[in-house]
Amino acid sequence: MYVGRFAPSPTGPLHFGSLIAAAGSFLRARAQGGRWLVRMEDIDPPREIPGAADDILRTLETYGLEWEGEVLYQSTRLTAYREVLEFLHRAGLAYACTCSRKEVGQAAGPGGVYPGICRGRRERPSQPHAVRVMVGDGRITFEDALQGRVSQDLARDIGDFVIRRADGLYAYQLAVVVDDAYQGVSEVVRGADLLDSTPRQIRLQQLTGLPTPAYLHLPVAVDAATGQKLSKQNLAPPLDRARPLPAIVQALTFLGLNPPMELLDGDVASAWAWAMAHFDVARLPQRRTVLLDEVKIRP
Ligand code: GLU
Ligand code: ZN
Repeated sequence: MYVGRFAPSPTGPLHFGSLIAAAGSFLRARAQGGRWLVRMEDIDPPREIPGAADDILRTLETYGLEWEGEVLYQSTRLTAYREVLEFLHRAGLAYACTCSRKEVGQAAGPGGVYPGICRGRRERPSQPHAVRVMVGDGRITFEDALQGRVSQDLARDIGDFVIRRADGLYAYQLAVVVDDAYQGVSEVVRGADLLDSTPRQIRLQQLTGLPTPAYLHLPVAVDAATGQKLSKQNLAPPLDRARPLPAIVQALTFLGLNPPMELLDGDVASAWAWAMAHFDVARLPQRRTVLLDEVKIRP
């Protein structure tokens, strides 16, 4: 059974860039006759905006993006993350790192790769410390369903990476791997801005014995004027709940479909029904970025 998911972080309202990831994963799951889940990645309270999680879910509803089952909140999953962390510790695959940010910066050099200063340490210091996982040797290579073959040398390009921060918060990389497995996700469809994280996630799956799902990384929307991807950080405008159809039709255009402009006069359910009948991975732009200007619609 195909299981897909959309996993927003409640750091602000959904914008057009998030809609691409939501719509792409939704259509892919539905076109396969599969399930589509929503997971709220609320494990970083300092970055959260109060009310954003509810706001995101309300927007998904208004946009007709209906998920199955209950929303999984990562804040309820800390025990599971701790168990995996303990397993890695016991297996000698993770270690406490007491380096300060400054020490890491100095040791890492220009590439930003942590050189494993604390590697080999078995005890857990009582002072606050990060936990790093050992990446080992060799390249990670996987076939992305859209971007093709992707390969990364983790030791050279990333280094032993943090799976629990010194402030006690679990890292995205760990939580995402544990929960994709827990929810039985068979394919991860998300933005190509996360392509760089995937080899780390595959290494964690290998080290913990969790399954590796298939991956499809959609291009991300880039604003032509600034050359930057749409994000909450650069204040992409929130999706308009009062008028979902223009953004939906634009998202379908972005995803390589050629939606008839009559969809704008219908309702969201008819727009998705049309999209499900026409969605085709072969029509997705095989790129990591698409300029927003390329997908302007003229309603
Ligand atoms: N929560 C992540 C984000 O909003 C996405 C995680 C994922 O899809 O793996 O950027
Ligand atoms: Zn260290």
